[in-house]
Amino acid sequence: MSGTPVLATQGLTRRFGGLVAVNDVTMSVPKGQTLGVIGPNGSGKSTFINLVTGHLRPTKGSVLIDGKDPTDAKPWVIAGARVARTFQIVKPFRGMSVRENVAVGILYGPEGTGRMAPALRAADEVLGEVGLGGSGDKAPGELSVADARRLEFAKALALRPRLLMLDEVMAGLRPAEIEPSLALINTLKAGGMTIIVVEHVMKAILAVSDQVMVLNQGTLLMTGSPREVLSDPRVIEAYLGQKYAQRQAGGEAGA
Ligand code: ADP
Ligand code: MG
Repeated sequence: MSGTPVLATQGLTRRFGGLVAVNDVTMSVPKGQTLGVIGPNGSGKSTFINLVTGHLRPTKGSVLIDGKDPTDAKPWVIAGARVARTFQIVKPFRGMSVRENVAVGILYGPEGTGRMAPALRAADEVLGEVGLGGSGDKAPGELSVADARRLEFAKALALRPRLLMLDEVMAGLRPAEIEPSLALINTLKAGGMTIIVVEHVMKAILAVSDQVMVLNQGTLLMTGSPREVLSDPRVIEAYLGQKYAQRQAGGEAGA
């Protein structure tokens, strides 16, 4: 648990014109932990990920990956440092098969040898892990919404990341479809991976998170254990809303 956090931010701030999308966020994630990130739509969750991966630059503040500031590094340099993320809006390479989409990450990833045949075999392995074992030959456009999100997951996993950031990979999945994703996250976690999970599905956040960070209008509202966060009146008001509070009061389990 001790040692340099895999990810830390200090006063991280990003403005878009007059809007402060991420406002003075200071946080850290120790190695091997899973951090859940929740917050209403527009609270800055995706912007936060974009700042960590170098897809956006901070207006103020800093990001430290393994104690080093990659602020001037390009996204692909950060990916080489084994930070991988999924995009909330799925971005497959349309002219390639599902298998080839994953193989690209392997070819150019930290363990890539530049040889296609082993990359395609490794891609099949990763596709199996995310539950897309039978879909390697398909075109990305043929995938259901849920499977397109699994492909995003596979593309990120193919980089064999130390820090994996998942931006709503379970959105649009039916409850039964969520279970295998949760099991996979817990397996990755058991292997020592540090994971950030942005998700609206509260059941998913509870099932995988060691700590949960709550954003509200770009500001860090609180960080705590899932239990602490779910019982905090500010969180209930800002995020879960009155309905949830009433249901909890009525003794109904789950969110
Ligand atoms: P979340 O992922 O929590 O739903 P986002 O990080 O996507 O929230 O967005 C936070 C706020 O920043 C929103 O008000 C959104 O409209 C705004 N925003 C995000 N990206 C941009 C951008 N590239 N240009 C202008 N505004 C943006
Ligand atoms: Mg988002």
